[in-house]
Amino acid sequence: MIVLTKTPQETEDLARRLAGRLNGGEVILLHGDLGAGKTTFTKGLAAGLGISKPVTSPSFTLIKNYRGDRLALHHIDLYRLESEAETESLGIDELFEDDAVVVIEWNKYRAFPVPPVSVTIEGSGDEPRKITIEGIDESAFN
Ligand code: ADP
Ligand code: MG
Repeated sequence: MIVLTKTPQETEDLARRLAGRLNGGEVILLHGDLGAGKTTFTKGLAAGLGISKPVTSPSFTLIKNYRGDRLALHHIDLYRLESEAETESLGIDELFEDDAVVVIEWNKYRAFPVPPVSVTIEGSGDEPRKITIEGIDESAFN
């Protein structure tokens, strides 16, 4: 499905609605250039999972973990990694839990236990964003 958002709040709202339908075990890959809105989208996911701690970009720490009401959120940013081989030392495979959602920006990892949901965000600056979500039933947003 494709959604256009005019503000960061609209992007967060879309992600919040998606979060409400997650059951745990999902992997969500966020695609888009720097400043597209990947972290903004993750903030909405966190809000939808009942996470009150502020979500900040994991660019330097690579992985940030949050605990929500029902599910944990593991927010990963692999921008700084050169290859999939480098992801092995991060222990990403241990984050694929039944009661957690894994969100990855700049993905370089391949060995997912489930087919990932893909979110592609196009647009920059104050432009509207075109957000394409693949790999999840559209009814998840109703
Ligand atoms: P990324 O993680 O992809 O690098 P961020 O989410 O950190 O991007 O930053 C996106 C920036 O774009 C924020 O400053 C946000 O306020 C701004 N922005 C403007 N319009 C939108 C929109 N419709 N959706 C998401 N972000 C938007
Ligand atoms: Mg980011």
